[in-house]
Amino acid sequence: MPNENVTNAPEATHDVVIVGSGPAGLTAAIYTARADLRPLVLEGEPSSTTDQPGGQLMLTTEVENFPGFVDGVMGPELMASFRKQALRFGAEILTVKATKVDLSARPFRIWVGDPDAPEPTYRARALVVATGAQSILLEVPGEDRLLGHGLSTCATCDGFFFRDKPIAVVGGGDSALEEAIFLSKFASSVLVVHRRSELRASKIMQDRAMANPKISFRWNTVVEEVLGESTLVGLAVRDTVTGETSVLDVQGCFVAIGHAPNTSLFAGQLSMDEAGYLVTGPGTATGVPGVFACGDVQDHVYRQAITAAGSGCMAAIDVERYLEAEHHPAT
Ligand code: NDP
Repeated sequence: MPNENVTNAPEATHDVVIVGSGPAGLTAAIYTARADLRPLVLEGEPSSTTDQPGGQLMLTTEVENFPGFVDGVMGPELMASFRKQALRFGAEILTVKATKVDLSARPFRIWVGDPDAPEPTYRARALVVATGAQSILLEVPGEDRLLGHGLSTCATCDGFFFRDKPIAVVGGGDSALEEAIFLSKFASSVLVVHRRSELRASKIMQDRAMANPKISFRWNTVVEEVLGESTLVGLAVRDTVTGETSVLDVQGCFVAIGHAPNTSLFAGQLSMDEAGYLVTGPGTATGVPGVFACGDVQDHVYRQAITAAGSGCMAAIDVERYLEAEHHPAT
């Protein structure tokens, strides 16, 4: 997405910089913009198939449970609306990625581009971390080589390329079944490959997938290698019960095995739990006064667009009160 509404010089100190542009970051932008804090949003760059400005909804299909959309809405369309709404209230949105932050003193320092540059690109009185989470990959041979060449983490982006082809979806959660159902519109067949004999997905998704004539299941099976040189030609798999190995004859594979938080930027500076999610509370406060976190980067329990948006609103209100208290300290 192009930069829009860019007015400030990079070296200016901003009241609030928001890192991330999913439902959490853009809701924080809408609220802080309406509070006249002129937020600067670093929305990220489309650096990989799993890491997109706009967050995970850019990689999803139909969102049926976001309140207010009676007939559902496509994820990318919903995020485009969030973005336009933030711009309408004067948020600046830059299609850049933060490469380093220094939260040891205020104003906080944020680098874009060369992290070794002596001076930061931006300074901020308050920082909202809304960097979200991204797809976990299988970490098997062939994966790096074939990502984008038959292997994908995004059915919406790539489903079209698999018209009338046999494909596999790896995973047993809601994401895997959602992808499988969406992909059944294109593919000749969809094989869900799951490492256990029981799905983790919700009952309604299980019922839908099982009723779909194009979808079948391969239980107790792990992928050991993604096969192919320049394009995916199959999956080498192992049955975890019998130990038997075989090759699945598919021409596409979608990995949907969960997500990991995007917190490496804050390592050693913000408290994290053992899975790497930021620890917040009370509200969206992190351990560093003036730094607030919202959305999936600090939530591995609910992980919904609506809860992310709700926590983005909370972060904005927390920022507003924090800055206000600084300007008008209680006597
Ligand atoms: P989940 O963590 O729910 O599921 C991940 C799946 O991948 C599990 O079945 C897990 O297996 C499997 N898995 C994990 N690691 C590996 C691995 N290394 N190799 C093979 N398989 C692996 O993630 P989801 O992304 O599916 O869902 C996340 C959250 O988002 C959930 O709360 C879900 O309900 C929600 N969601 C809701 C949707 C909706 O309502 N429409 C759509 C998508 C997501 P195992 O079961 O053995 O642990």
